[in-house]
Amino acid sequence: MNRLLIATRNDHKLTEIGAILSGVPVELVGLSGFPDAPEVEETGETLEENALLKAESAAGHTGLPAVADDTGLFVDALDGAPGVRSARYAGPECIYERNNARLLAELEGLPPEKRVARFECVVALAVPDKLQMLFRGRLPGRITEAPRGDNGFGYDPIFQPDDMDVTLAELSAEAKNAISHRCIAFRRLREFLIAAQPEV
Ligand code: IMP
Repeated sequence: MNRLLIATRNDHKLTEIGAILSGVPVELVGLSGFPDAPEVEETGETLEENALLKAESAAGHTGLPAVADDTGLFVDALDGAPGVRSARYAGPECIYERNNARLLAELEGLPPEKRVARFECVVALAVPDKLQMLFRGRLPGRITEAPRGDNGFGYDPIFQPDDMDVTLAELSAEAKNAISHRCIAFRRLREFLIAAQPEV
């Protein structure tokens, strides 16, 4: 494998993933170099389906090995909601503050022990005509009663990891990356790529 396509048009994500995959002897490329690559609708019912849909589409279009991820926040008291629909929990516009406000309203009055939640990230690797693999990362914690902190994005201000008394939005980017669901999943991909070279 000489080149590995990261199926995102987000350069910030590409840089972050590049840092995690450093030391893997491949050249990382983003989707922005392939303007004709189709936009993939996340129609799957699971993170696994969506990650594979995106990786397969990118690999099929470019002929390159491709990686895509999908993440969700799963809240026990809500039977796993917002889950695979985390991005658009409060409507199609994907506005973080509204998603957080809806989640806090749904959990209103519940004590800390009933606010158990976890982030899950699935990374899919699709190598044309060769293989499909999935790598998972999980971060357990609970939903706070009010937002705290200004760092990060999404549900970070209302998610407190287990064994911590701060939210993800109160951690520095480095501290969050050391424990995050996404980093765990991409580190597993990294281990696989290093072990599998040069076969894939
Ligand atoms: P995506 O699959 O990475 O696009 O994530 C889907 C949605 O999950 C995002 O729109 C966010 O609402 C939420 N999300 C994903 N990762 C994180 C995170 O690290 N912190 C907080 N929210 C996240």
